[in-house]
Amino acid sequence: MSEFPDIKDARIFAQAALNNMSRNGVPPGPRNFEIWFAYAAGTSPELTAQMDQLIEAGSDFTTDVSRDLFDRFGDQDSGAEQARLISHDLLGTLRFIQDAFDATELGQLEFYERLDHYSERLESADSAADITRILEEIVVDTVQVREQTGNLKSKLAESTKLVRDLRNRLESANKDAVTDPLTGIPNRRYFEVELDKAVAEAEAGNDPLSLMFIDIDRFKDFNDKHGHHTGDIVLRLVAWQISDCVGERGLACRYGGEEFVVLLKNTDDHTALVMAEKIRIMISRKEVTHRKSGKSFGRITISCGLTLFKPGDDPGSFLGRADSLLYQAKEAGRNRVMRSTPDDEAMNQTMRL
Ligand code: GH3
Ligand code: MG
Ligand code: MG
Repeated sequence: MSEFPDIKDARIFAQAALNNMSRNGVPPGPRNFEIWFAYAAGTSPELTAQMDQLIEAGSDFTTDVSRDLFDRFGDQDSGAEQARLISHDLLGTLRFIQDAFDATELGQLEFYERLDHYSERLESADSAADITRILEEIVVDTVQVREQTGNLKSKLAESTKLVRDLRNRLESANKDAVTDPLTGIPNRRYFEVELDKAVAEAEAGNDPLSLMFIDIDRFKDFNDKHGHHTGDIVLRLVAWQISDCVGERGLACRYGGEEFVVLLKNTDDHTALVMAEKIRIMISRKEVTHRKSGKSFGRITISCGLTLFKPGDDPGSFLGRADSLLYQAKEAGRNRVMRSTPDDEAMNQTMRL
C-alpha cells in the first residue's frame, strides 16, 4: 500500500489542471488552480460531478462560479494554503520561462528577416567595401543572437532550479497535509481518503478488507499521573509499534487523540485478528521507562474493535461498526480485542500468542 500521493501524479495533475483552465478560460489564480487540480486528481466525487456538469453545459467559469466552487470544495486549512502559495509561485515560474522564450523567439525572428535583407543587399553589392560592411553587420547580429541564446540557457537553468525547489516544497506540503505531526504516521485525513478507496474496491471485488479501531486505555489517568509530555512520548511509541506491526500489509493512521485505525486490504478476519492481538500483547508487555533516569511509568494497554467489510457497507457503517466494537471492548474490561462474527455477534477475543 503506498503511503503518500506520488509527486509524479501531482505533476501530471498540475499540468492537466493548467491545460483545462486555459481551455475553459479560467484565470490562473491559486484558488482556481486548487479546484482544477483537485478535479484532475479526482479527489472528490461531488466536485467531479459538479465540474463535469458545468463543462458539459459549456458554462462560463465567471469569478462568481469559481468563488462558489472554491467555497464549496476548496480546502481552507494551512496545508492547502501552503499548496496555494506554491501553485502561485509555480505559475510565476511558468510565466518567467515563457517570457525568456518570447524574448529569444522575437530576437531570432528579427535576425531571420535581417538575413533575408542581407542576401538581397549582397546580390546587389558591387564593391568589396560594401560586402565587408554587410559581413560586419552580420557578425554583429550573430553575436547578438548568440548572447540571447546564452541568456535563455541561463534563464532556463535558473528556472529549472526554481521548479525543482517548488517541486520539493510541494512534495513536503503534500506530505505534511497527510502526516500527523506528533507521531509522524499518516493522519485521519489520509485515512479517510484511503478508506473511501478501499471500500469502493471491496464493494466491487471479493477481496476481504479488515478494519481495526484502537484506543489507549485510561490514557487520561496516565496523563494526569505522569504529565502530558510523557503522554506524548507514549503516544509516539504506541503509533510506532502499531505501524511496525502492520508494516507493508496495511495502513496504520492516527485517527485523533489516543485513537488509531488500521486498514488491512486482502486480509481475512483471522489474519487481522492475529495481528490485532499481536499489537495488543506487544504494547501491554512493554514497560514504559524514563530513558535517562530509568524510572518506570508502568505499562499501558489498548483496546481494539475489529471488523470485516460486509457487502453493502459504506465507509461510515464500516467504521461505525469498528468503533462500536471498540466501545464494547472497553465495556468488557479493556485490554482486549472485540470483533464481530459474520452474523454480527460481538466476540471477545483473547489469544495466547
Ligand atoms: P478509555 O479507556 O475509556 O479510553 O479512557 P481514556 O482516559 O483513554 O479516555 P478519555 O476519552 O476519557 O481520555 C482520552 C485522553 O487522551 C484525554 C487526553 O488527555 C488524552 N490525549 C488525547 N490526545 C492526546 C495527545 O495528543 N497527547 C497526550 N499526552 N494526551 C492526549
Ligand atoms: Mg478515545
Ligand atoms: Mg482511551
